[in-house]
Amino acid sequence: MKIICIFNQKGGVGKTTTNINLCAYLALEGYKVLALDIDPQGNTTSGLGIDKKSLQNSIYDVLTSDVPLEEVIIESELVKGLYIAPSTMELAGAEVELIERKNRENILKKKLADIRDKFDFVFIDCPPSLGFLTINALTASNSVLIPIQCEFYALEGVGQLVNTVQLVKKSLNKDLDIEGVIMSMYDGRTNLSNEVVSEVKKYFKDKVYETTIPRNIRLAEAPSFGLPIMLYDDRCKGAEAYEELYKEFLKRQE
Ligand code: ATP
Ligand code: MG
Repeated sequence: MKIICIFNQKGGVGKTTTNINLCAYLALEGYKVLALDIDPQGNTTSGLGIDKKSLQNSIYDVLTSDVPLEEVIIESELVKGLYIAPSTMELAGAEVELIERKNRENILKKKLADIRDKFDFVFIDCPPSLGFLTINALTASNSVLIPIQCEFYALEGVGQLVNTVQLVKKSLNKDLDIEGVIMSMYDGRTNLSNEVVSEVKKYFKDKVYETTIPRNIRLAEAPSFGLPIMLYDDRCKGAEAYEELYKEFLKRQE
């Protein structure tokens, strides 16, 4: 079971979109995949068609009480082999509630150990911050997948991001690797996009995926229907890109 966290402390760079669609494509390919939502915004949860109001418990309960992870996992009705560990707004309070808990960076790691080998892949959708939730995700993961938006300020914050990964690696999770870097909202017609990609490649070298994700309105629409992109519009540019992305992801696992 490989655990991958999708992380960039910058907001709106495509973490959740990547999480939803990569998980769905891998499940369609036949893998057993868990999409674990550790963001209080719960966008992976709703984007995969889960009605948050209907939930008995969520990742919040897993982190703050003795509820086992297995108990909150929901099987997707959309894609066979896809499972969701949902989150809700309540999760925003977890950090303060656990402020005095010892080893609180390790809570998710321990909970994930209980479902060892139940899945091929676990993807964790992080919130856009460097707090307790993200540290739990980084500590529990084998690797980090970093989406970066093709925009002027793309590299702003990347130093801090890498620094955080290094710090976690040093003190909490020595085996943490960088899985890859995904360029999102790419527009090949503009110099800016191409300049940003080459800057990012200077920094991350061959960790940068060949596949880029274009700006595509269908990708922004799909979550409001609770659908991954291939079930919403399997012929749009966004679907083509994520299909290529999951193939590249699998190739890089060999
Ligand atoms: P946050 O940091 O708030 O969790 P995020 O990094 O998870 O954000 P997303 O939620 O995936 O980012 O994307 C931000 C917004 O941009 C969303 O409304 C999403 O639907 C839209 N979006 C994501 N990727 C694309 C794309 N390739 N083309 C067009 N819109 C996109
Ligand atoms: Mg998100």
